[in-house]
Amino acid sequence: MLRTRQHGDVTEIRLTTAFLGRPMYSVSAYLFDGTLVDTGPPRTGRELARWAAGQQIDQIVNTHHHEDHVGGNAFLSHLPALAPPDTVPRLVRAPRIPLYRRTTFGQPRPATASPMGDVVATHRHTLHVIPTPGHAFDHVVLWLPERGWLFSADLYLMERARYVRRRDDVGLWMESLRRMLGYDFDTMFCAHAGPVGDAHAAIRRKLAYWEELQGEARRLADAGYSPRAIRRRLLGREGFLTAWSGGNFSKENLIRALLAMGAGEKAAA
Ligand SMILES: [Zn+2]
Repeated sequence: MLRTRQHGDVTEIRLTTAFLGRPMYSVSAYLFDGTLVDTGPPRTGRELARWAAGQQIDQIVNTHHHEDHVGGNAFLSHLPALAPPDTVPRLVRAPRIPLYRRTTFGQPRPATASPMGDVVATHRHTLHVIPTPGHAFDHVVLWLPERGWLFSADLYLMERARYVRRRDDVGLWMESLRRMLGYDFDTMFCAHAGPVGDAHAAIRRKLAYWEELQGEARRLADAGYSPRAIRRRLLGREGFLTAWSGGNFSKENLIRALLAMGAGEKAAA
């Protein structure tokens, strides 16, 4: 399913996959000044291409390799695409993804893209490319200083994120969030939350939530609790997402990541 919402001269394209007729997963791509930022999952690619045929689009810019951000590229192969240098080989190879992700998003097809530099020129503007690894090793955000905007892809997601993937580097992610507070912007165009106003405050709240959780997790670990027991005490039971993903997404992953960061700092001290 595809729905659009207009935010000034930014078009948010909300792409929703369904499973057995039920809405399963939503993600937003954005169209600004002729540039399409991300293309959603493969499953909505055909729909995106139908919509895109009626729009003025010069190019695609991808923010990281996850299939819910690059899956539409193969359906828009007539458009030039730019992606972070580390993303390009993944786009070309389109490695086979696990079953639960194929069911949710669809299997990406190979697509081509050119590596982006430090800036991306749109029709009338210049987007600054800022590497923000953590959620993914190749994740970048696009900053438009004259508007005070950040196309933040999956940097923010939500304030109280409790499910992370096994491979997410939460320490790097928090560093990237902290670093972004050094840039001037007040609106984030998030791939999941949509436009987020007062963006610095939202990022600070997100960081504070994880920092607080880390403090509590460390105290419990020092008192002899296992990561599983800490997860149960601080975050409760795992939800549907954990079973669905075979444990790839879990609250316990977050607890383990936060504790591992603590261990690194202790070893360095
Ligand atoms: Zn992602």
